[in-house]
Amino acid sequence: MKTIQAYRFALDLTPGQERDVLAHAGAARVAHNWALAKVKAVMDQRSAERSYGVPDEELTPSLSWSLAGLRKAWNAAKPDVAPWWGEVSKEAFNTGLDALARGLKNWAGSRRGTRAGRPVGFPRFKSRRRTTPSVRFTTGAIRVEPDRMHVVLPRLGRLKLHESARKLARRLDNGTARIMSATVRRDGGRWHVSFTVEVDRAERIPARPASVVGVDVGIKHLAVLSTGELVDNPRHLVAAQQRMRALGRALSRKTGPDRRTGRRVSKRWERAAARLGRAHARVANLRRDGLHKLTTRLAREHGTVVVEDLNVTGMLRNRKLARHIADAGFAEIRRQLAYKTGWNGGRLLAADRWYPSSKTCSGCGAVKAKLALSEREYQCEACGLVLDRDRNASLNLAALAAEFDTAGSGPVAARGADQKTRVRGQVAVKRESGTASAGQTGTVLPQGRTTDRVLAKAH
Ligand SMILES: [Zn+2]
Repeated sequence: MKTIQAYRFALDLTPGQERDVLAHAGAARVAHNWALAKVKAVMDQRSAERSYGVPDEELTPSLSWSLAGLRKAWNAAKPDVAPWWGEVSKEAFNTGLDALARGLKNWAGSRRGTRAGRPVGFPRFKSRRRTTPSVRFTTGAIRVEPDRMHVVLPRLGRLKLHESARKLARRLDNGTARIMSATVRRDGGRWHVSFTVEVDRAERIPARPASVVGVDVGIKHLAVLSTGELVDNPRHLVAAQQRMRALGRALSRKTGPDRRTGRRVSKRWERAAARLGRAHARVANLRRDGLHKLTTRLAREHGTVVVEDLNVTGMLRNRKLARHIADAGFAEIRRQLAYKTGWNGGRLLAADRWYPSSKTCSGCGAVKAKLALSEREYQCEACGLVLDRDRNASLNLAALAAEFDTAGSGPVAARGADQKTRVRGQVAVKRESGTASAGQTGTVLPQGRTTDRVLAKAH
């Protein structure tokens, strides 16, 4: 089974190496901004000419928006625009042009209505202050050194890793992995290298193929399982979150930027902002680590994992921080489960977005009209069942799997058109390398529609 996977490692750069990377990231920005200005100028020129009644065939020729087209234009212009171009790898310019080509494509697709998801705006110029510095290498000498504590990248040379790359190195050594690209990026005040790797994974089956587990993502706990297990948040997370909040308050007391008056920030504000950024990154890392451990365990053990579908409208409405964090974790859990169940030969089922998993009694099936978020205990008026709220929800999710299996083999149409019977055949996680372009790096790639839908009664 071939998959595209990302391996990310923290780097310990020397000050000289950091300067080199920043120079490459800056070159990427220069190429991006130059090409964007060019694209805009040509667009404006053509629309002006059109308004004068110039016939279409006499308009200024349009610029190709493909990566190849942009690269050609850049290569012709670079001796004038960037006489220093020889000092950095051509991959740096490629990084910026590729980002622009994808941005233009997304914008065009979004405008035509051929692109799913939220509307995408026209690409914007990248500023030195606000852009995350990053550069991607797709060709040349990219490798992990035998000591597994260093990587070699074109132009940048040998970079020291902060952590061992043994997991990737092992796969490279036995030939089950091939590096497609490497991206060096600064996030949360720390440098990382992220490899996009084509991995040949062995086929696996879960430890208990017949087992079904429902997962309810909580606020107090990371998750509650239908087995009754409460999965706690990672250690130190609460402390890190408290620190993050305190730093946020401290930052607000300092002299920050003001667009209206054009006020520059103070040194203290800059330092406080950097501290806050690191605290944010730490919270995110702790959460991600906890989520990965949970989803790996679930996907290895159980044949079927059932989660709720993401309630996007609900997410947009609620303003409570705690709920917001839980929602973010929820999307991440589902994303990870989608590909990990695929890797392990299991399946992920998602309850319909409107399935009232919290409001339904797992004992008798009665549905409550209302259940406040503050009610931590589920009390059924019909059968008298008293149960932890999240436990109840996870039990309902697990029960859905049985319903899915019966409906999947039986006559679905007999269930009435007013019910949401959107049962589809098992859609496995896409496994071909074609599901991802090498341009997307950083995290394991989104896998598209990867889960089966469970039918749910409309309420
Ligand atoms: Zn009941």
